[in-house]
Amino acid sequence: RFITLEGGDGAGKTTQAELLSAWLVEHGRTVLRTREPGGTELGLRIREIVLHERGHVSPRAEALLYAADRAHHVETVVRPAIARDEVVLQDRYIDSSVAYQGVARGLGAEHIRSVSAWAADGLVPDLTILLDLDVTVGRARVTAARGDTFDRLESEAEAFHESVRQAFLDMAAAEPDRFLVVDAGGSTEDVQRAIRVAVAPLVAI
Ligand code: C5P
Ligand code: MG
Repeated sequence: RFITLEGGDGAGKTTQAELLSAWLVEHGRTVLRTREPGGTELGLRIREIVLHERGHVSPRAEALLYAADRAHHVETVVRPAIARDEVVLQDRYIDSSVAYQGVARGLGAEHIRSVSAWAADGLVPDLTILLDLDVTVGRARVTAARGDTFDRLESEAEAFHESVRQAFLDMAAAEPDRFLVVDAGGSTEDVQRAIRVAVAPLVAI
């Protein structure tokens, strides 16, 4: 099974993935937790560039770096784990690229979707959990957690993040069977409960 978590910065993807993983392991499932960008050694080097490069990065180059990270990660980590019948829980995937590079950065959702689909050789998640959160609340959570160490994307203007949020919601509305939208403004426990309800039938729990 392949389950992805999406949403803006500060929405709680990492926390929720950890809780979900613990629950799956308690039920005897083997879980692989991973993320993009940075789910491989090569990907960590790409992540360093896309998040911390000090100079200007051409938006198309940025999009292709995310795609390169994804191609390598899907082929060497994600598909092998799925083939071993593990549950792959992944922070961010193609929907992040479509929202950030395609829509917010303005490169075009369809272009980014097709580049990403090629990079991933067509791998589509069984379930995508969208943690939807007010942009200002998300930003405050990130600041509280990490002080002033914003990465390049987090320091984008509010409008950029609003457009990311709307892009995710539009994608969820277009593919209701793949997406579960959860109000990430709720308590950690409430969010986790909603996620488990949706995941249970996928993993026969
Ligand atoms: O979720 P995580 O902290 O790993 O994301 C790292 C950064 O990369 C975030 O600031 C996110 O907004 C950005 N990102 C992006 N495009 C992607 C994936 C992540 O701009 N396709
Ligand atoms: Mg982040």
